[in-house]
Amino acid sequence: MTATNHIKLKAPNEIKILRKAGRILSSIVKEVTRSLKSGMTTQQLDLIAEKLISDHDVIPAFKGYRGFPACCCISVNQEVVHGIPGDRVIRDGDIVSVDVGIIYQEYYSDTAVTVGVGKISSKLQELLDVTRQSLYEGIEQAHPGNRLGDISYAIQKYVEERSFSIVRDFVGHGIGRNLHEAPEIPNFGSPATGPVLKEGMVIAIEPMVNVGTWQTRICDDGWTVVTADGQPSAHFEHSLAITADGPLILTE
Ligand code: MG
Repeated sequence: MTATNHIKLKAPNEIKILRKAGRILSSIVKEVTRSLKSGMTTQQLDLIAEKLISDHDVIPAFKGYRGFPACCCISVNQEVVHGIPGDRVIRDGDIVSVDVGIIYQEYYSDTAVTVGVGKISSKLQELLDVTRQSLYEGIEQAHPGNRLGDISYAIQKYVEERSFSIVRDFVGHGIGRNLHEAPEIPNFGSPATGPVLKEGMVIAIEPMVNVGTWQTRICDDGWTVVTADGQPSAHFEHSLAITADGPLILTE
């Protein structure tokens, strides 16, 4: 684990840039999910994102990151995160997670949303609702003086009380001049543990919630994470700044 003193605190002028980056990213993701239709491939969706990113004059943060080949991670149904856009066709009844990062004036922003295509089952709708709300339960704890474990615990508690499971193998992260900075933000843990949260911390919280087991595996492509039992998974993420007044969501 990373020590507290390695967490870079951002100055108000940096948070201003991160806020702008987040607003741009949020509008891109909104547009991408709006254009999602049954019959489209995940690659077509990624190309829409690529065009929007270029139209906004920002840089895609994921493309080329450790060799990742696309602008978005697009993860369908049992895919948890890091899905590589390709020739998979999106169908009515699917749930599709779109995770996008950009660089604006040398600062990173990162967000993810999972949406249903056409009519989805009530179980999948519940999965989306619980995952989205678990993110807000975590964000609610992002006040100066609280500890990192308070965020982790709030997410895990909310998810498990609703009989879903929370992924352990992938976590949130600090964000700023790098896509992934200290600290790691697990979506599970104990209250009143871990680093004390301070004004100026900027973090990306990203719960990944499964219908079945929390366990996952990585596919042969070396990227795509799927649930170990093949049951569906959802993912929501916001980048946010911790301010004196509490959490400031940057990506909405
Ligand atoms: Mg992230």
